[in-house]
Amino acid sequence: MHLAGGMIGFLAALIALHLIHTIANGDEHSFIYHWLKEQSPLYAFAIIASFSLTGVLAIGQYVNKKELRYELRKNKELDEASQAKTEAISFASHELRTPLTAVKWGIKSLLEEDFGQISPEQKKVLEDVYQTNENMQTLLADFLDSSKIDIGKLEISLKNISLTEMERAIKQLAAKKQPLAKKKKIELKYDAAVNYPSHALVDLNRISQVVDNLLENAINYTPAGGAIKVSLSSNKNDFKFSITDSGIGIPAKEQAKVFVKFFRATNARKLRSGGTGLGLYLCKRLIDGHQGGVWVESAGAGRGSRFCFTLPIRARQETEELFRKI
Ligand code: ADP
Repeated sequence: MHLAGGMIGFLAALIALHLIHTIANGDEHSFIYHWLKEQSPLYAFAIIASFSLTGVLAIGQYVNKKELRYELRKNKELDEASQAKTEAISFASHELRTPLTAVKWGIKSLLEEDFGQISPEQKKVLEDVYQTNENMQTLLADFLDSSKIDIGKLEISLKNISLTEMERAIKQLAAKKQPLAKKKKIELKYDAAVNYPSHALVDLNRISQVVDNLLENAINYTPAGGAIKVSLSSNKNDFKFSITDSGIGIPAKEQAKVFVKFFRATNARKLRSGGTGLGLYLCKRLIDGHQGGVWVESAGAGRGSRFCFTLPIRARQETEELFRKI
């Protein structure tokens, strides 16, 4: 269709050129020359101008459509390549999980002395290997989640959870991080002021993943001797989680980007080379999937950070399991 448009445009442009040429050369033998001469100059000009315009517009549109088709084909190819890459990451992450789980249980048995007593030196080495293995498992899980999000296949399973249950789960997570905080000489405090009869529609495993990530970040980005405080609160609309640390903070100019996939602030890169910049991206996607809000407040580099998220509170009678793709 657009080929026909292009041809019409080409023809109109040819006619316009022919008219201009006939008038410019005063071609007495040409029928068109005599016909145009009989018309008023304004009318002759209008005819030539409309042929020229039609020609230019139709040819322009033809070129545009051709470019558009080329762009669409290129985008499709890129989409297919990106889909293949995502599937490859997904497959590799999935396949690597099984051996890592086997390593985990092997080391755990050794640490629990199922195969005989171990020396303090051996224990130290095994604990380090165990932690490295845990980090790799988290990393793989993050890659897997992120590649599922890329293809719209990450599903959360929402259930009506009481705030008491949510509080208990978060308190346990904070308690589990105490040894790590202690090791870094960081004081980790916990404070809850929740309106207990309320409920929220949540995927508790996913909310725990978010909390774990925020706790882990607070510990990683707070130097020894610092302090972290976890607070929970609720009002009639929302449940609110916040974690405040006295750590390295986030440079003001970079704060808007911390939830962007793979983003790492300049001061964080200097402090820790190991991060991926995937954790906060996943936190945002998961909290968005719960129709909640997540944000960061920091007075700037070196001045600590506060990460908060809210989840909407629901009426008890809405109890139903709900699957949602995010
Ligand atoms: P990672 O920690 O693996 O780099 P995240 O996605 O969890 O990735 O965090 C993204 C970036 O946000 C971090 O690299 C860091 O720059 C910044 N950030 C996150 N949490 C904190 C925090 N508590 N204090 C300072 N910076 C933080």
